[in-house]
Amino acid sequence: MKDHLVKATAEGVRIYAAVTTDLVNEAIRRHDCHAVAAAALGRTMTGALLLAANLKNQEALTVTFDGHGPLGRVTADATPEGFVRGYVGNPHVDLPQNAQGKIDVGGGVGTDGTVTVTRFTGLRNPVTGSAPLTDGEIADDLTKYLYVSEQTPSSVGLGVLIGHAGDQLACIGAGGFILQPLPDVSDEVLDRLEANLRAVKSVSRMVDEGYDAKGIIAAVLKGFDIHYLTQTELAFRCHCSKQRVSEILLSLGEKDLKSLVEDGHAEACCPFCGERYQFTGEELQAIYDHAMADRRDAQG
Ligand code: ZN
Repeated sequence: MKDHLVKATAEGVRIYAAVTTDLVNEAIRRHDCHAVAAAALGRTMTGALLLAANLKNQEALTVTFDGHGPLGRVTADATPEGFVRGYVGNPHVDLPQNAQGKIDVGGGVGTDGTVTVTRFTGLRNPVTGSAPLTDGEIADDLTKYLYVSEQTPSSVGLGVLIGHAGDQLACIGAGGFILQPLPDVSDEVLDRLEANLRAVKSVSRMVDEGYDAKGIIAAVLKGFDIHYLTQTELAFRCHCSKQRVSEILLSLGEKDLKSLVEDGHAEACCPFCGERYQFTGEELQAIYDHAMADRRDAQG
Protein backbone atom coordinates (compact mmCIF):
# COMPACT_ATOMS: atom_id res chain seq x y z
CA MET A 1 0.00 0.00 0.00
CA LYS A 2 1.46 3.38 -1.04
CA ASP A 3 1.23 6.25 1.45
CA HIS A 4 -1.95 8.21 0.91
CA LEU A 5 -4.40 10.70 2.41
CA VAL A 6 -8.17 10.60 1.98
CA LYS A 7 -10.64 13.41 2.69
CA ALA A 8 -14.26 12.79 3.55
CA THR A 9 -17.30 14.49 5.03
CA ALA A 10 -20.23 13.00 6.91
CA GLU A 11 -23.30 14.64 8.42
CA GLY A 12 -21.64 17.95 9.37
CA VAL A 13 -18.23 16.44 10.13
CA ARG A 14 -14.96 16.76 8.20
CA ILE A 15 -12.35 14.01 8.42
CA TYR A 16 -8.92 13.46 6.85
CA ALA A 17 -7.03 10.19 7.32
CA ALA A 18 -3.57 9.13 6.17
CA VAL A 19 -1.28 6.13 5.92
CA THR A 20 2.36 7.24 6.17
CA THR A 21 4.46 4.08 6.70
CA ASP A 22 6.85 4.55 3.75
CA LEU A 23 7.60 8.20 4.39
CA VAL A 24 8.33 7.47 8.06
CA ASN A 25 10.78 4.79 6.93
CA GLU A 26 12.38 7.29 4.58
CA ALA A 27 12.84 9.71 7.51
CA ILE A 28 14.30 6.92 9.69
CA ARG A 29 16.81 6.07 6.95
CA ARG A 30 17.78 9.67 6.14
CA HIS A 31 18.26 10.73 9.77
CA ASP A 32 19.38 7.39 11.25
CA CYS A 33 16.59 7.66 13.85
CA HIS A 34 16.45 5.45 16.91
CA ALA A 35 13.00 4.35 18.10
CA VAL A 36 11.97 7.40 20.16
CA ALA A 37 12.97 9.83 17.39
CA ALA A 38 11.31 7.64 14.74
CA ALA A 39 7.99 7.62 16.61
CA ALA A 40 8.09 11.34 17.48
CA LEU A 41 9.10 12.43 13.99
CA GLY A 42 6.67 9.98 12.36
CA ARG A 43 3.75 11.31 14.38
CA THR A 44 4.79 14.94 13.75
CA MET A 45 5.15 14.42 9.98
CA THR A 46 1.79 12.63 9.83
CA GLY A 47 0.13 15.41 11.86
CA ALA A 48 1.69 18.06 9.62
CA LEU A 49 0.36 16.34 6.48
CA LEU A 50 -3.14 16.13 8.00
CA LEU A 51 -3.07 19.85 8.93
CA ALA A 52 -1.63 20.81 5.53
CA ALA A 53 -4.40 18.95 3.69
CA ASN A 54 -6.63 21.91 4.45
CA LEU A 55 -4.35 24.46 2.73
CA LYS A 56 -4.61 25.78 -0.82
CA ASN A 57 -2.21 24.63 -3.54
CA GLN A 58 1.29 26.11 -3.27
CA GLU A 59 0.81 26.88 0.43
CA ALA A 60 2.74 25.04 3.15
CA LEU A 61 2.98 24.72 6.88
CA THR A 62 5.59 23.92 9.51
CA VAL A 63 4.87 22.15 12.79
CA THR A 64 7.53 22.44 15.51
CA PHE A 65 7.57 20.74 18.90
CA ASP A 66 9.90 22.44 21.33
CA GLY A 67 9.38 20.67 24.66
CA HIS A 68 12.95 20.79 26.02
CA GLY A 69 13.15 16.99 26.15
CA PRO A 70 16.22 14.94 25.17
CA LEU A 71 15.11 14.72 21.50
CA GLY A 72 15.47 18.47 21.10
CA ARG A 73 13.27 20.16 18.55
CA VAL A 74 11.03 18.04 16.30
CA THR A 75 10.01 19.78 13.07
CA ALA A 76 8.04 18.87 9.97
CA ASP A 77 7.11 20.86 6.84
CA ALA A 78 4.15 19.68 4.78
CA THR A 79 2.20 20.75 1.70
CA PRO A 80 -1.35 20.07 0.52
CA GLU A 81 0.18 18.32 -2.52
CA GLY A 82 1.22 15.56 -0.10
CA PHE A 83 4.93 16.25 0.42
CA VAL A 84 6.56 16.30 3.82
CA ARG A 85 10.06 16.62 5.24
CA GLY A 86 11.22 16.76 8.83
CA TYR A 87 13.96 16.25 11.34
CA VAL A 88 14.63 15.83 15.03
CA GLY A 89 17.43 17.49 16.99
CA ASN A 90 18.90 14.36 18.56
CA PRO A 91 17.87 11.27 16.57
CA HIS A 92 20.00 8.86 18.65
CA VAL A 93 18.22 9.30 22.01
CA ASP A 94 17.31 6.02 23.74
CA LEU A 95 14.79 5.92 26.58
CA PRO A 96 13.15 3.11 28.56
CA GLN A 97 9.54 2.32 27.66
CA ASN A 98 6.89 4.38 29.44
CA ALA A 99 4.48 3.09 32.12
CA GLN A 100 2.16 1.71 29.39
CA GLY A 101 5.00 -0.32 27.86
CA LYS A 102 5.16 2.00 24.82
CA ILE A 103 7.91 4.07 23.21
CA ASP A 104 8.25 7.11 25.46
CA VAL A 105 7.55 9.87 22.91
CA GLY A 106 6.36 12.28 25.62
CA GLY A 107 9.55 11.72 27.60
CA GLY A 108 11.60 12.34 24.47
CA VAL A 109 9.78 15.47 23.30
CA GLY A 110 9.29 16.87 26.81
CA THR A 111 6.36 18.93 28.08
CA ASP A 112 8.12 22.14 29.07
CA GLY A 113 7.41 24.18 25.99
CA THR A 114 5.15 24.70 23.03
CA VAL A 115 3.90 23.37 19.74
CA THR A 116 4.07 26.00 17.01
CA VAL A 117 2.33 25.91 13.65
CA THR A 118 3.31 28.35 10.90
CA ARG A 119 1.25 28.63 7.73
CA PHE A 120 2.93 30.00 4.60
CA THR A 121 0.10 31.39 2.52
CA GLY A 122 1.41 32.92 -0.68
CA LEU A 123 2.13 36.63 -0.68
CA ARG A 124 1.05 37.53 2.81
CA ASN A 125 3.33 37.14 5.83
CA PRO A 126 3.39 33.67 7.41
CA VAL A 127 0.79 33.16 10.16
CA THR A 128 2.10 31.56 13.35
CA GLY A 129 0.20 30.19 16.33
CA SER A 130 1.32 28.20 19.31
CA ALA A 131 0.04 26.42 22.40
CA PRO A 132 1.63 24.94 25.53
CA LEU A 133 2.34 21.22 25.29
CA THR A 134 -0.07 18.79 26.98
CA ASP A 135 1.88 15.52 27.18
CA GLY A 136 4.46 15.71 24.35
CA GLU A 137 2.83 12.68 22.73
CA ILE A 138 1.97 14.82 19.65
CA ALA A 139 -1.68 13.93 18.91
CA ASP A 140 -3.26 15.49 22.01
CA ASP A 141 -0.88 18.42 21.72
CA LEU A 142 -2.16 19.11 18.20
CA THR A 143 -5.79 18.72 19.34
CA LYS A 144 -5.17 21.29 22.08
CA TYR A 145 -3.28 23.59 19.70
CA LEU A 146 -6.21 23.60 17.27
CA TYR A 147 -8.63 24.42 20.08
CA VAL A 148 -6.53 27.02 21.91
CA SER A 149 -4.86 28.78 19.00
CA GLU A 150 -7.33 28.32 16.15
CA GLN A 151 -10.60 27.90 18.09
CA THR A 152 -11.28 24.73 16.08
CA PRO A 153 -12.59 21.79 18.09
CA SER A 154 -10.92 18.69 16.65
CA SER A 155 -9.87 15.19 17.46
CA VAL A 156 -6.42 14.10 16.25
CA GLY A 157 -5.31 10.46 16.33
CA LEU A 158 -1.78 9.40 15.34
CA GLY A 159 -0.02 6.05 15.44
CA VAL A 160 3.51 4.97 14.49
CA LEU A 161 4.57 1.37 15.07
CA ILE A 162 8.29 0.76 15.25
CA GLY A 163 9.86 -2.66 14.90
CA HIS A 164 12.63 -4.25 12.91
CA ALA A 165 13.19 -5.34 9.32
CA GLY A 166 16.14 -7.70 9.57
CA ASP A 167 18.55 -6.00 11.96
CA GLN A 168 17.43 -2.51 10.91
CA LEU A 169 14.96 -0.36 12.83
CA ALA A 170 11.82 0.06 10.72
CA CYS A 171 8.35 1.56 10.80
CA ILE A 172 5.87 -1.32 10.49
CA GLY A 173 2.86 0.94 10.12
CA ALA A 174 2.01 4.62 10.53
CA GLY A 175 -1.02 6.77 10.04
CA GLY A 176 -3.54 9.11 11.57
CA PHE A 177 -6.70 11.11 11.27
CA ILE A 178 -8.04 14.54 12.05
CA LEU A 179 -11.73 14.99 12.67
CA GLN A 180 -13.49 18.35 12.85
CA PRO A 181 -17.18 19.05 13.38
CA LEU A 182 -18.33 21.82 11.06
CA PRO A 183 -19.99 24.86 12.69
CA ASP A 184 -23.57 23.80 11.85
CA VAL A 185 -23.27 20.29 13.30
CA SER A 186 -26.18 19.04 15.46
CA ASP A 187 -25.87 17.95 19.10
CA GLU A 188 -27.14 14.52 18.15
CA VAL A 189 -24.20 14.08 15.72
CA LEU A 190 -21.73 15.35 18.34
CA ASP A 191 -23.01 12.76 20.83
CA ARG A 192 -22.58 9.96 18.27
CA LEU A 193 -19.07 11.24 17.44
CA GLU A 194 -18.03 11.19 21.07
CA ALA A 195 -19.36 7.65 21.49
CA ASN A 196 -17.47 6.54 18.34
CA LEU A 197 -14.21 8.13 19.50
CA ARG A 198 -14.48 6.37 22.85
CA ALA A 199 -15.11 3.00 21.17
CA VAL A 200 -12.70 3.10 18.23
CA LYS A 201 -9.39 1.18 18.27
CA SER A 202 -6.16 3.15 18.52
CA VAL A 203 -4.65 4.30 15.22
CA SER A 204 -1.57 2.15 15.93
CA ARG A 205 -3.80 -0.87 16.16
CA MET A 206 -5.60 0.05 12.92
CA VAL A 207 -2.38 0.51 10.94
CA ASP A 208 -1.02 -2.71 12.46
CA GLU A 209 -4.10 -4.48 11.13
CA GLY A 210 -3.53 -3.02 7.67
CA TYR A 211 -6.32 -0.43 7.50
CA ASP A 212 -6.00 2.02 4.62
CA ALA A 213 -7.10 5.66 5.02
CA LYS A 214 -10.69 4.86 3.99
CA GLY A 215 -10.71 2.03 6.52
CA ILE A 216 -9.61 4.41 9.28
CA ILE A 217 -12.37 6.85 8.30
CA ALA A 218 -14.98 4.08 8.20
CA ALA A 219 -13.91 2.91 11.68
CA VAL A 220 -13.89 6.38 13.26
CA LEU A 221 -17.22 7.32 11.61
CA LYS A 222 -18.91 3.95 12.01
CA GLY A 223 -22.66 4.32 11.43
CA PHE A 224 -22.26 7.67 9.64
CA ASP A 225 -23.26 8.43 6.05
CA ILE A 226 -19.74 9.04 4.66
CA HIS A 227 -18.93 10.89 1.44
CA TYR A 228 -15.39 10.19 0.31
CA LEU A 229 -13.80 13.12 -1.51
CA THR A 230 -10.20 13.20 -2.82
CA GLN A 231 -7.29 10.83 -2.37
CA THR A 232 -3.70 12.16 -2.50
CA GLU A 233 -0.44 10.22 -2.61
CA LEU A 234 2.05 11.17 0.10
CA ALA A 235 5.85 11.19 0.05
CA PHE A 236 8.90 12.42 1.90
CA ARG A 237 10.36 15.16 -0.26
CA CYS A 238 12.75 18.00 0.43
CA HIS A 239 13.19 20.95 -1.90
CA CYS A 240 16.84 21.51 -1.08
CA SER A 241 19.42 21.68 -3.88
CA LYS A 242 23.11 22.36 -4.24
CA GLN A 243 22.16 25.87 -5.36
CA ARG A 244 20.23 26.55 -2.12
CA VAL A 245 22.99 25.13 0.03
CA SER A 246 25.57 27.30 -1.77
CA GLU A 247 23.40 30.32 -0.95
CA ILE A 248 23.82 29.42 2.73
CA LEU A 249 27.60 29.22 2.20
CA LEU A 250 27.49 32.66 0.54
CA SER A 251 26.23 34.15 3.79
CA LEU A 252 29.20 32.89 5.83
CA GLY A 253 31.76 35.38 7.12
CA GLU A 254 34.88 36.11 5.06
CA LYS A 255 37.15 34.23 7.49
CA ASP A 256 35.02 31.05 7.43
CA LEU A 257 34.75 31.15 3.64
CA LYS A 258 38.49 31.68 3.31
CA SER A 259 39.21 28.67 5.49
CA LEU A 260 36.83 26.51 3.40
CA VAL A 261 38.71 27.58 0.25
CA GLU A 262 42.01 26.68 1.94
CA ASP A 263 40.64 23.23 2.92
CA GLY A 264 39.96 22.71 -0.79
CA HIS A 265 36.78 20.72 -0.06
CA ALA A 266 33.56 21.09 1.94
CA GLU A 267 30.51 18.97 2.68
CA ALA A 268 27.26 20.70 3.63
CA CYS A 269 24.26 18.77 4.90
CA CYS A 270 20.60 19.77 4.52
CA PRO A 271 19.12 19.65 8.05
CA PHE A 272 15.66 18.68 6.78
CA CYS A 273 16.53 15.61 4.75
CA GLY A 274 20.14 14.77 5.56
CA GLU A 275 21.21 15.09 1.92
CA ARG A 276 24.95 15.81 1.69
CA TYR A 277 26.34 18.20 -0.90
CA GLN A 278 30.03 18.20 -1.84
CA PHE A 279 31.86 21.34 -2.86
CA THR A 280 35.23 21.25 -4.63
CA GLY A 281 37.99 23.79 -4.08
CA GLU A 282 37.10 25.48 -7.37
CA GLU A 283 33.42 25.77 -6.41
CA LEU A 284 34.36 27.17 -3.01
CA GLN A 285 36.69 29.71 -4.64
CA ALA A 286 33.82 30.81 -6.93
CA ILE A 287 31.48 31.14 -3.92
CA TYR A 288 34.15 33.14 -2.08
CA ASP A 289 34.68 35.47 -5.06
CA HIS A 290 30.93 35.90 -5.49
CA ALA A 291 30.44 36.71 -1.78
CA MET A 292 33.28 39.25 -1.76
CA ALA A 293 31.97 40.92 -4.96
CA ASP A 294 28.46 41.15 -3.45
CA ARG A 295 29.86 42.73 -0.31
CA ARG A 296 31.91 45.26 -2.28
CA ASP A 297 28.76 46.16 -4.24
CA ALA A 298 26.77 46.49 -1.02
CA GLN A 299 29.37 48.90 0.34
CA GLY A 300 28.97 50.92 -2.87
ZN1 ZN B 1 16.96 18.70 2.03
